[in-house]
Amino acid sequence: HTIQRTYNFNAGPSALPLAVLEKAQQELVDFRETGMSVMELSHRSPAYEAVHNEAIKRLKDLFAIPENYEVLFLQGGASLQFSMIPMNFLQPGQKAGYVMTGSWSEKAITEAKLFGEPYEVASTKEAKYCRIPELNELQYNDSDAYIHVTSNNTIYGTQWQEFPDTADIPLIADMSSDIMSKSVDVSKFAMIYAGAQKNLGPSGVTLVIIRKDLLEKANGKLPTMLKYGTQVKSNSLYNTPPTFGIYMLGEVLRWIEETGGLEAVAQRNEEKAKLIYDAIDNSNGFYVGHAEHASRSLMNITFNLPSEDLEKKFLSEAKEAGFVGLNGHRSVGGCRASTYNAVPYEACKALSEFMIEFQRENGV
Ligand code: PLP
Repeated sequence: HTIQRTYNFNAGPSALPLAVLEKAQQELVDFRETGMSVMELSHRSPAYEAVHNEAIKRLKDLFAIPENYEVLFLQGGASLQFSMIPMNFLQPGQKAGYVMTGSWSEKAITEAKLFGEPYEVASTKEAKYCRIPELNELQYNDSDAYIHVTSNNTIYGTQWQEFPDTADIPLIADMSSDIMSKSVDVSKFAMIYAGAQKNLGPSGVTLVIIRKDLLEKANGKLPTMLKYGTQVKSNSLYNTPPTFGIYMLGEVLRWIEETGGLEAVAQRNEEKAKLIYDAIDNSNGFYVGHAEHASRSLMNITFNLPSEDLEKKFLSEAKEAGFVGLNGHRSVGGCRASTYNAVPYEACKALSEFMIEFQRENGV
């Protein structure tokens, strides 16, 4: 029977490329003629090690990661990184700067307070996180252990367009919701991390890209599993890694390669988001975008309707029409369309048409 794929706008876990799912399905019970599933392979076997190392190589190639960086696959989600970063790189009494652009920045700084003296470099909280601060609003100190930013704010729908140049202060970015959506100058960052479940694959894998000189500054007296050095020394094979998730991540990267690389991905993402932002901008104020134009995210498009009743009606009719995941995060309400890499152009086109039609029927 033909499969009817849902228009999936979930914020995470989110859509995966159909081609990747089909390939995984095809290989599920007999991976590369091993007579076993990837899930059944020993993580010490050559067959699995090939999967693991291919995924790392694809990441290095696609994201143009310089030689002086390590690529790690960890567990515990981006949330555990909120803790591991200060645990490893912040000393008691030492300062680290956090740029506050949303709920995930808040969670990150909360963890850092357990280990040192983090402070807010800038915050747009008073503006309901509707924008990213201007670079000249960022005031930090040369003695800071690091500066932390959230490159894309999944809940508020804002995204950094340009990152600060922090010179000798390590810049650390949570890129959970826009990693691999476009190319990034990795050399600006001492560390980049991301939960895999939006643009990279299924949940359960956390990607960490870390510069070797930062590793050298890490605190020594930590539980083995919470030291970056442990996984660096063992190529992320100190203990059993999430093997199936890493396999899927590798296949998602292969799909990016086969569909034109990051430049093509970035162009598709712009075209997709434009369809929905145009529906907002051409609605004469029926749909109101949450983010300021200059800070708009190409990954999470947040908007409101004239009343909560209309929002409810919109969400319920959208659901009936086959759209999934359009409700805003439970903390902010409203509507949100997440248009990650794997969300097809057709889904975004269908949503923009649905929005225009809904306004025609309900507009005031
Ligand atoms: N940071 C950002 C920007 C996110 O969007 C999320 C999850 O949605 C997280 C961190 C938390 O990630 P995890 O669920 O992998 O811990």
